[in-house]
Amino acid sequence: MNKIFLFSIDLEEFYAVRSNFRRTPLPHLTESYLEFLKRHNAKTTFFIVGELAEQFKSTIRDIAAEGHELACHTFAHRSLDQYNATSLREDLLRNMEALRNCADVDIVGFRAPILSLTERTQWAYDVLAELGFKYSCSVLPSENPLHGWPGFGNKPKMMSGVLEIPVTLARFMWLRVPIGAGTYFRCLPMSLIGRAFRRCAEDGVPVAGYFHPYDIDTGQERVMSRGVGGSRTLNSLLYVNRGRTMRKLEVVMADGFRIMPYRDFVDSAAT
Ligand SMILES: [Zn+2]
Repeated sequence: MNKIFLFSIDLEEFYAVRSNFRRTPLPHLTESYLEFLKRHNAKTTFFIVGELAEQFKSTIRDIAAEGHELACHTFAHRSLDQYNATSLREDLLRNMEALRNCADVDIVGFRAPILSLTERTQWAYDVLAELGFKYSCSVLPSENPLHGWPGFGNKPKMMSGVLEIPVTLARFMWLRVPIGAGTYFRCLPMSLIGRAFRRCAEDGVPVAGYFHPYDIDTGQERVMSRGVGGSRTLNSLLYVNRGRTMRKLEVVMADGFRIMPYRDFVDSAAT
């Protein structure tokens, strides 16, 4: 059985409604993820916000030096609803330049902030193709209070020449939720997550997910996130079980899952 975990890090700030709060210490938190990956001899993909690449150059250099893939997450973490084709093109060129100023690498991957690639913003694939992106992991294929594309389906699909790898969902009662992704991974019991991961492997499906620096930041001050549409419930979930994230990731690894960069998965899917 091929147990593949398309773990990834979305390298971004905690974007709060008010700006004067204690920031997540990005370099330090990134270092914790790098140590975890090194311990398991695993390479992954970092989807990086361009303005942070400009701010934390040496952290980005460390990531690249360890052999991880650098990919785009827009320049300033804005939802795709706020762009048109011209402004997205400009933004992504800036995002790529910021990454290339840190390391001499090819950039072929993209993730839309807040999984905001939906039926309405699917014009973005033409822009991605034009700029040479090979893949995107930007779709939440279900109903969601924020963004979502329920009709997309669970399997990777070519969209205007770009392979979209939707975030992997599993069903828990009436909910379909991303199981290998920050908030859900932190909130759900490990027994359920473990079972869902194994079910994916049995079905021959990799688990595509994402984590953030704040998912392991236990010291962060409580503030309202800009990304939850004003919902106090969703906001409180952003803080649940942050201290358990790493331990739960260790359980996934102990279960025999292998982490690989999205780029390698895309290359292997093409052959
Ligand atoms: Zn993000």
